[in-house]
Amino acid sequence: MDCIFCKIINKEIPTEIVFENDHIVAFKDIHPKAPTHILIVPRKHVESINHLGSEDRDVIAEIILTAPKIAGMMKTKDGYKLAFNVGRKGGQIVDHLHMHLLAWPEDDKEAKRKEVAPI
Ligand code: AMP
Ligand code: ZN
Repeated sequence: MDCIFCKIINKEIPTEIVFENDHIVAFKDIHPKAPTHILIVPRKHVESINHLGSEDRDVIAEIILTAPKIAGMMKTKDGYKLAFNVGRKGGQIVDHLHMHLLAWPEDDKEAKRKEVAPI
C-alpha cells in the first residue's frame, strides 16, 4: 500500500518519532503549522474518522489519551489544540487517520492563530 504514514510507521522513510507503542506512533509534522505540531497515528491503516469501526474503539481512545502525555513531553500541557481533518473538504491530505496536536507558546505574536488555526 502506497501510504506515507504506513511507511513512517514501518520506518521505511525517516521522521522524528517522539512516542510509539504497540498501537500508535507520534511524530513531528514535516511542515509544522505551530511551534509544536505532532501527528498521532494508529499503526493500523484506517483512512479517516469516517472509516472507523467499532473494533477501533480502543485505538481511537488511545490516540486521545496519549495527547496529554505527548503535550507533557513537549512542555505544552497547559494548552494545546487537537484536530482531526476528515476528507478533502475537511482538509485531509494524507489518507491515514491522524490527530494533530498543536501548541503555541504563551508569548507567540501570532497567538490569534489559536482561534482559527486552519490545518
Ligand atoms: P492532513 O491535512 O490532516 O491530512 O495532514 C497531513 C499532515 O501530514 C500535514 O500537516 C503534513 O505536513 C504532514 N506530513 C506529510 N508528509 C509528512 C512526512 N513525511 N512526515 C511528517 N509529516 C508529514
Ligand atoms: Zn497508512
